[in-house]
Amino acid sequence: MLSYLYRVCALIILFGLAGPSASGQQATSQPAHAHDHPHAEVRPSRSLQFPDFPDGRALLVVDLHTHSVFSDGHVWPTVRVWESSRDQLDAMAVTEHLEYQPHRDDIPHPDRNRSFELAELAAANAGESAPLVIPGVEITRQLPPGHVNAVFVQDANPILTIERRADDNLANARLALEEAQRQGAFTFWNHPAWGHDAPAGIMQVPAEQQALVSEGLIQGIEVANGGEFSEEALQFALDNDLAILGTSDIHGLIDYDYDIIAGEHRTASLVIASERSLQGIRDGLEARQTVALFKNQFIGREDVMQTVLGAVLSLEVADYQRNSTVLRVNVRNDGPLPVVLQNVGPRNFANAASVVTIPAHGSLRISITDTPDPAAVYIQARVLNAYTAPRENPVIVLRP
Ligand SMILES: [Zn+2]
Ligand SMILES: [Zn+2]
Repeated sequence: MLSYLYRVCALIILFGLAGPSASGQQATSQPAHAHDHPHAEVRPSRSLQFPDFPDGRALLVVDLHTHSVFSDGHVWPTVRVWESSRDQLDAMAVTEHLEYQPHRDDIPHPDRNRSFELAELAAANAGESAPLVIPGVEITRQLPPGHVNAVFVQDANPILTIERRADDNLANARLALEEAQRQGAFTFWNHPAWGHDAPAGIMQVPAEQQALVSEGLIQGIEVANGGEFSEEALQFALDNDLAILGTSDIHGLIDYDYDIIAGEHRTASLVIASERSLQGIRDGLEARQTVALFKNQFIGREDVMQTVLGAVLSLEVADYQRNSTVLRVNVRNDGPLPVVLQNVGPRNFANAASVVTIPAHGSLRISITDTPDPAAVYIQARVLNAYTAPRENPVIVLRP
């Protein structure tokens, strides 16, 4: 099914290139990479960069969950930074398991800030292409609280409140969360439907966990972690006003876990930020201005989703079909993921069935029937690869 979608997408892009150009709408297109490799039609580049807003706010792509050899990952922290540079992430967090150190015989790791320091150094050496690096930890406990990432920590070491995993209990896990909160960290519940805690694949929320959320000791939740998605987590985020997040939780290599050439991308999150900075991201998380990016889908709350899709999509009037009131428009997508629209407006499309795909960093010509006044044209569409609640797609309106 997916490979079929990609082929459709590739065809659309090919026809788009062969057809009349989308004049004046190419501001952020990246044709330079279009023929760099044989499957380039699928996505113009592996970059996950999104356009900023005209009012100066930034739309930042972040991965808030990564591992290296300093916990149970398989690479040096430098490699995490290189991968993030290649994906053109705006920021990545370093979040080693605090309490789980399977490599400690080889890498003793007495200072739990060391992985972040190495990643920060690698970013400094990588120059302008480097992501911002966010200091974090993965508090790794039995449920409750389960695995909880704390990002924007000041010092990882005091968040480690036990010496042996056998000493794990809710009381000392709570001390870890309280220390993270004292440091001004942002905390979120990781992979809540993980098989270890949810054998049926359905997230369970013990009363003690609900209490930690209600007290503000847990502020966000991963609705998507790597290749896994949880509808219950999305509903829980909506019910409890938590930040909706997607992360890679990468342990191996991004390019082994995701078929980038075929158009896949790492699971990540968008943050609407007042500025392109660590503080901007921290504030955006606090304000719940997030959308998870998962398998070419957008997952977030309605108002944030509308803002993001509004920044990504635009409509421009082209011309009329000969001797008709069939108006041709270009719908442009300035984002790195294709957007799938289903027409739900009062007019039909004359050159497509009701479902169309607007390619990443590209545009699609759509002919709209019975539109004598070009100033009144609009497209009303359900976005089939966006979710604002379990199994619920947003409806957008695009105007010139
Ligand atoms: Zn975990
Ligand atoms: Zn993890």
